[in-house]
Amino acid sequence: MKAFVMKQIGQVGFMEKPVPRPGPGDAIVRTTKALICTSDSHTVGGGIGPRENLTLGHEAVGVVHEVGSEVKVFQPGDRVLVGAITPDWGHPAAQDGYASQSGAPLGGWKFSNSKDGVFAEYFHVNEADANMAKIPDGVPDEMAVYCADMLSTGFMGAEKGNIPIGGTVAVLAQGPVGLMATAGARLRGAGLIIGVESVPNRQKLARTYGADEIVDFTREDVVTRTGELTQGEGVDTAIEALGADATFQTCVKITKPGGTISNTGYFGEGELVGIPRVEWGVGMADKTIATGLCPGGRLRMERLLRVLETKRLDPTLMTTHTFRFDDIERAFEVSDKKLDDVVKVLVVF
Ligand code: ZN
Repeated sequence: MKAFVMKQIGQVGFMEKPVPRPGPGDAIVRTTKALICTSDSHTVGGGIGPRENLTLGHEAVGVVHEVGSEVKVFQPGDRVLVGAITPDWGHPAAQDGYASQSGAPLGGWKFSNSKDGVFAEYFHVNEADANMAKIPDGVPDEMAVYCADMLSTGFMGAEKGNIPIGGTVAVLAQGPVGLMATAGARLRGAGLIIGVESVPNRQKLARTYGADEIVDFTREDVVTRTGELTQGEGVDTAIEALGADATFQTCVKITKPGGTISNTGYFGEGELVGIPRVEWGVGMADKTIATGLCPGGRLRMERLLRVLETKRLDPTLMTTHTFRFDDIERAFEVSDKKLDDVVKVLVVF
């Protein structure tokens, strides 16, 4: 089969690989739609070290091709969504409620990390009964595929942000995860959502997904403007959706005492992440810093799919580009270099 791989740090290309075979609890899925993620760029850039000839990608849907002898829930022909994070559900971390950390910190992240990813004609799913979900008839593949990572991670930002109904929320950066954090904040009942973003098409999407106010950090000071919008109080919840030290520090500054800084960002550089001491209340302001990694699992995926089935949200507005799998090299370049006002790139198999 054809697979799109990271040949070495900074270099991608196609490769022929054998179609994978399932273990007793596993499944093989024939890929139908996939999305390119900023994390794929981090990986190719060397973020997780050298991964020679590793198949890229972790956001996909498809049709079950083969199942292992112990798989009960799925059979060949089922249309399925697979979480980007596919935990080992027997691990104590999963039993403790932190499935994404199974095996090691971030150990639930297997695709394009500890095993081949989904940018291939077929891919392998461990613990299929726990890590896949059937896609409802009314939800098309190109919509369902957003649940693998974007909805799960973005909504996690809102969920871990502990947003009170009617509360105030700032979402810092309106990339695809930030946009879904914005949508998640609205679904959670936020009373005021402030979207921080400078790119016009992302500002527009932010408003569509629920932002009441847009703050352009290139034109105004985010701390000052957020203070004005919250009568000097600060927000209940600040969601970090960029993965940058400056953004994280802003989140700490604009969160009121007792509030939550909810991180979805990937901090891939530097040794330390800074916390502004005074605005952290010298360590005593009851500000919670919450972190997490894209929750996976069948129950999670089924819940996210229900949001789409009942038309609470249309994530396909984020699809700015569509490419055939044969053209994924170009697709990757568009996503990687953020060309042509890209938000999210869909790959059709
Ligand atoms: Zn992703």
